[in-house]
Amino acid sequence: GAPGVGRMPQAKLVLLGDTGVGKSSLALRFARGQFPTHCETTIGAAFLTQTVKVQGKNIKLDIWDTAGQERYHSLAPMYYRGAQAAIVVYDVNNANTFDRAVSWIDELRQQTTGNILIVLAGNKLDLASEHRAVQTEDARVFAEENGLIFAECSAKSGHAVNEMFMMIAQKMIAKQ
Ligand code: GDP
Repeated sequence: GAPGVGRMPQAKLVLLGDTGVGKSSLALRFARGQFPTHCETTIGAAFLTQTVKVQGKNIKLDIWDTAGQERYHSLAPMYYRGAQAAIVVYDVNNANTFDRAVSWIDELRQQTTGNILIVLAGNKLDLASEHRAVQTEDARVFAEENGLIFAECSAKSGHAVNEMFMMIAQKMIAKQ
């Protein structure tokens, strides 16, 4: 390339978690800054990219969304291949989705080699004051014991969504 024009660092980030936990909504909230309409999430954004700036450097995040494939309980190996980071999402108001997140993490560890960065994300925090089913502390302890980054967020309100993606971008830059 031209002098001084380096290739922009790039990181593949995959979203995992049960159907309905808000994976597409989180990706679209981050990439577009909006809570998506029902149609957008039903169609599913299989692939989104977003360039962000951390410490003065641009990094391109390739965000892979399952687009509903998780319904069939197995994802193609290419889904995980080359991923540097994964966000495993559960719904803080649905304990079953937390158990499923734990199995997604196991699968991820089997399907990927090396040190993939895993974020455990409890979504739909906006509903938690009335409907919470997974305690913050329980999830936090699980994350700590398993070397995961932990966050609670809301794609609907936007709470902690950018911070979560930016933290991943920062860690990716630090590794490159
Ligand atoms: P996916 O199947 O994991 O990709 O989930 P979607 O992104 O399609 O979201 C499933 C449903 O949950 C949709 O009706 C979303 O509008 C809703 N949803 C997603 N995130 C949130 C959130 O943070 N709060 C609330 N209240 N609803 C959400």
